[in-house]
Amino acid sequence: MSAADAALRERITELSVHIPCGGLRGPVQLPTRSPSDRGVRWQSCRHENHPVVWGDADVSRERDLCIICLRATAGGRSRWSWLACQDCRAVNSAVEAAWGFRPFALGRHSVMNGFGVRAGAPPEVQQRQIERLTDFADGIGRLLKWRKHEYRRLAGHFDPQADVPLRVWQQELPPGPRASRDAFARLIGPEYPLPLP
Ligand SMILES: [Zn+2]
Ligand SMILES: [Zn+2]
Repeated sequence: MSAADAALRERITELSVHIPCGGLRGPVQLPTRSPSDRGVRWQSCRHENHPVVWGDADVSRERDLCIICLRATAGGRSRWSWLACQDCRAVNSAVEAAWGFRPFALGRHSVMNGFGVRAGAPPEVQQRQIERLTDFADGIGRLLKWRKHEYRRLAGHFDPQADVPLRVWQQELPPGPRASRDAFARLIGPEYPLPLP
């Protein structure tokens, strides 16, 4: 571990938003695997000299800010994690029920979103599935663009170089069903009014 990384772990004592990138970094509590294991691990952001890699996880992260509201957290160690929080997924489902299609694919793995090219399927079915996968990739591009835009707006409340404890971030920017609806409405635009909750 570099001296700079070691100093960082001394200084940051709870999971925090690194304002320059919006990544969460700091100690996280994982389930313990043995009596001697306290289950505390370091979650890195990309600004460390040697970001920590967890050998037993698909993704070396326990939590991230939700890709839609950026207030609640989502994500996790598994490739089967959701990119959006529960409240944002609820809005996504409500819209799907009202409009007959799901606006965003919020699973990290394309299979969670009902896509994937089935081996042995007839070529025309495979072609359709490939088209859906391409749409999925576009959808993720839109979400990443939104995330960048919304993050910049919210991060403006804080010192641009700080590590802000997630606790403080959420005091200032409370998550919840209202915040999720508001973010969602701005993400899809005023020409598509959201169904009533
Ligand atoms: Zn960072
Ligand atoms: Zn959310």
